[in-house]
Amino acid sequence: MLSQRIQNLKPSATIAINTKAIELQKQGVDILKFGIGEPDFDTPENIKQAAKRAIDEGFTKYTVGTGILELKEAVCTKLIRDNKVECDTSNVLITNGGKQALYNCFMALLNPGDEVIIPSPYWVSYTDMIAVCEGQSVFVDTTSNQFKLTAEMVKTAISPKTKCIILNSPSNPTGMTIEKEEVEKIAELALEHQFYIISDEVYEYFIYDGKEMFSVASLPGMKDRVFTVNAVSKTYAMTGWRIGYITGPEKVIKAMGNLQSHSTSNPCSIAQKAALEAINGPQDSVKMMAEEYLKRRNFVYEAMSEIPGFKLTKPEGAFYAFPDVSGAFTDQINDSFKFTEFLLEKAHVAVVPGGAFGAAGNNCIRFSYASSMDQIKEGIRRITEALA
Ligand code: GLU
Repeated sequence: MLSQRIQNLKPSATIAINTKAIELQKQGVDILKFGIGEPDFDTPENIKQAAKRAIDEGFTKYTVGTGILELKEAVCTKLIRDNKVECDTSNVLITNGGKQALYNCFMALLNPGDEVIIPSPYWVSYTDMIAVCEGQSVFVDTTSNQFKLTAEMVKTAISPKTKCIILNSPSNPTGMTIEKEEVEKIAELALEHQFYIISDEVYEYFIYDGKEMFSVASLPGMKDRVFTVNAVSKTYAMTGWRIGYITGPEKVIKAMGNLQSHSTSNPCSIAQKAALEAINGPQDSVKMMAEEYLKRRNFVYEAMSEIPGFKLTKPEGAFYAFPDVSGAFTDQINDSFKFTEFLLEKAHVAVVPGGAFGAAGNNCIRFSYASSMDQIKEGIRRITEALA
C-alpha cells in the first residue's frame, strides 16, 4: 500500500522520545525531559504582543505564499547586519519552520541518486528527508576529531554524484562548531567540484568561549552556491510558531516557492507578524538566553565529566551535550538505544540515543540543557545514582 519512497521512513527520534516522555508524565511518572531540543524560556512578551495585534487587526487571511515582504526584508537586513551575507528579497523564502526550508531545498535540488555529504553525527531529519527526495546520504564520520568537521574529511566523500553538503555549526547533536578556516577550504572544494552548500545556522546565536558565528554565504564567490537555512524557533524560543526561512540563488528559491504553493501555502500569517517583531525588535532576550545557556553548558560539562564512564568534549555552542557514555555500558546495556531506555526506566530521565544521529553517535547520548538549572542538577544527580 505504501509508496517505496515512504516505506523505510522512520519517525523522528527527537519527536518520538518527547512523545514517550509526555505519555509517561501523563501516567504520573516524574520524568525529567532532556530529549527534544526546545528552549525552556517563554516566547518574549514583545513577540507575543505582535501576534495579538495581528489577530486584532484581522491579519488572519492568506498571505503571499512565499511569505510577507516585510518579513523577507527583515531577514535580508539581519543577514547583511549579522552575517555579512548580501541578500535581496527575491533570494528569501519564508517557511513553516526550518524543517520545511530544508525539505523544500532537497526537493528542489536532488535528482534520484544525487549524493549529499553529511557530517556525522548529524541531526535526525536530514537523512530521512534526503531519502524521501530519492537522494543518497554520504556520511563523513567526525568522531576522530572531537566531532569537528575538516575539509580533508569532506574531500574523502566527494564523488561525481555529489550535489551538496550540509554544514551545521554549531551542530545539533554535538554542540561543536566548524572552524572558519575549514569552512573556507570547504567552500573552495564546493567551487572546484561544483556542489552546493546547505548551511543550517539555527543555533548561530548560541556560541561560546569567544567563538564567532560565521556564515559560509559571506565568502566571496559563494552567493550562488550556498543556501542558508534559519528559523526563529531556537533564537527566540518560538518552536511552536513554525517560522523558518531559507536564502539562496533566486532560481532555486523561486522553485521552492512554487513547491510550497502546492503543499502548505503561506506560513501562518500571525506567526509571520510575530517573527517580524522577533527579528526587528529588541534583541536583549536572545542575549539573556545565550548567557543562561552558557552557564548551563559550564555546569553540565563539569558535572558530566565527573560521572564514571562518561567522556564529554566541551560543547562550543547550541544547547546540547553529547557525551560518550560507552564507559558505562554493560554486557546487556551495550549501545546508546539500550542505555537511553535504561536511563528512562531507572532514572526517569529522557535523553536521545546518540545512534539516532547516525552510527557514529552510537556510543553517545544527546542531553539537551535547554532546561532549568534545577532540572539539570536533578537530572545529572539521577543519572549518577542510576549508574552507581
Ligand atoms: N530540532 C530539535 C531537536 O533536535 C527539535 C525536534 C526536531 O525537530 O527534531 O530536538
